[in-house]
Amino acid sequence: MKINLNPSTHPASASDREEKIAAGGFGKYYTDNMVIAQWSEDDGWADAELKAYGPLSLDPATSVLHYGQEIFEGLKAYSQPDGGVSLFRPDANGERFRRSAIRMALPELSVEDFVATVEALVRNERAWVPKNFGESLYIRPFMIATEVGLGVRPANRATYLVITTPASAYFNPDKAVTVWISTEFVRAAQGGTGEAKTGGNYAGSLLAQKQAAAQGCDQVVWLDAIERRWVEEMGGMNLYFVKGQGAGATIFTPKLTGTLLAGITRDSILTVAKDLGYKVVEGMISTDEWRDGVTSGEITEIFACGTAAVVSPVGAAKSAQGTWTTGDGNPGPITMQIRETLLGIQHGTIEDKHGWNKRVS
Ligand SMILES: *Cc1c(COP(=O)(O)O)cnc(C)c1O
Repeated sequence: MKINLNPSTHPASASDREEKIAAGGFGKYYTDNMVIAQWSEDDGWADAELKAYGPLSLDPATSVLHYGQEIFEGLKAYSQPDGGVSLFRPDANGERFRRSAIRMALPELSVEDFVATVEALVRNERAWVPKNFGESLYIRPFMIATEVGLGVRPANRATYLVITTPASAYFNPDKAVTVWISTEFVRAAQGGTGEAKTGGNYAGSLLAQKQAAAQGCDQVVWLDAIERRWVEEMGGMNLYFVKGQGAGATIFTPKLTGTLLAGITRDSILTVAKDLGYKVVEGMISTDEWRDGVTSGEITEIFACGTAAVVSPVGAAKSAQGTWTTGDGNPGPITMQIRETLLGIQHGTIEDKHGWNKRVS
């Protein structure tokens, strides 16, 4: 895929940009440019274009607006000690984007084209990458079905875009997240779209998120669709449970059953925790085991992980059956160690033994 560079002729001034970066938050301001590419069944992918960030013009009968045929990704660019910029495992995001496209009957974009478009945009927008540890430029590649018509079928046209936004810490790392365990609603079922990163999974989750908020909780925890007992994920993040303490601790995460989203942060932590000398287990954990584990003290820490927040400690869990709290409700030492290690690798202050960072400038 050729990428034609036609960047904005009116980029933000340096002071405007610095102000927007300093404002922090997540997704509040977007950078000067975006990437866009069109696909049609007849001609395949046309050239991509890097151009000024701006609105799309869509016919009201565009299929994505009616049937939600859409996929997205989320990855980050981190500033490096020498002033350069690195992407974290962009090939893994590209591979997942390809799998999501297949599941949602959208055209495949090669991993190579995915990485090349992300790289071209980030290189162009490198002045927007925040410099502080823990901050980053968040990158949102996505694809929408753009055939015009209300017929229900896989669209014969699609549009791929990449946008970027400066991000501070998404969650407060010093305050544990409280969770509402939903037994009423499910995020995904076997054979459904739970493994694909598609907007519809999120649309279907918002009512449960609303209920979590009404219960005074920050996030919702999803259980399996059949028994409503096996813990799967928290909101748009994967979950980890720490059993025991110190060097002998075991780091446990729900295994990928086909309904969980295979997080790249989850995958990276499996490796990082092993490197740190911990025992790592992927398995099944029920809500009863969660309650009993934190009550007996066997489960010492819980954290959620994902690209946006990296690692977020989980404190109190509330469900129709009651409320229970992990440890003293504060972030635990292993949670913080894993967070610092992963962020250190991403920022180039800890050795990148697995070749995860891809330098772009
Ligand atoms: C994106 C996402 C995650 C986290 O994936 P990362 O690759 O670590 O960012 C977890 N769960 C859901 C439902 C997601 O959409």
